[in-house]
Amino acid sequence: MSVSVSASGEKTARLYGLKDQDRLFATEPQEVALEVLDTPSNNSSQMEDAFPIKVYEYERIPISLDPQRVLDDVIEILDEDYADPDGDDTVPTERMVEASKRFVEVIKEEYVPTLYSPTGKFVEYSFSDALEISKQHFNSIENTAPETSEDNGVCKWNISKNEEGEDMCLTDCGELFVYEGLTPNENRMRYCCYCGNKLSF
Ligand SMILES: [Zn+2]
Repeated sequence: MSVSVSASGEKTARLYGLKDQDRLFATEPQEVALEVLDTPSNNSSQMEDAFPIKVYEYERIPISLDPQRVLDDVIEILDEDYADPDGDDTVPTERMVEASKRFVEVIKEEYVPTLYSPTGKFVEYSFSDALEISKQHFNSIENTAPETSEDNGVCKWNISKNEEGEDMCLTDCGELFVYEGLTPNENRMRYCCYCGNKLSF
């Protein structure tokens, strides 16, 4: 069984998906569990019913391309147009054979197949496994918030306005500080109340 993968997805050596999925996108098995968890359903018990799930590993199908066959095909095309119809088939020269080997090598290096087949390996996730993955996933997103202020001990507050038109500062450490009237600088604030670094405006 082979599966065609969406061209928009990453074409890594391995991808993960459910058994009868016709498009693969996940580069990690956990992504599939998250996707199943995110599938809209009428109520939470139906979401739970989708589990346990088996997430299968798929590997990219290697290209099979024979230099001999490639060269034979080329010679055949040429012979059809140019050879003596009553004569023998053209015999490829040594240079042609070498060139077709090199040609096939390059094609194999540069051509990326998008067909994957299951390796037989799978991971099974229960509903609580999926919830745990979801929790870790959102924690890791929070932890990747920019913290440039820690680099030099200074937190820069950029004065702006929010959607309601209120005055606010967007802080280097990733917070929004809404204020009225005097700016934090005019109020002689000197340290960021979120990250504790010295303020710069
Ligand atoms: Zn700060």
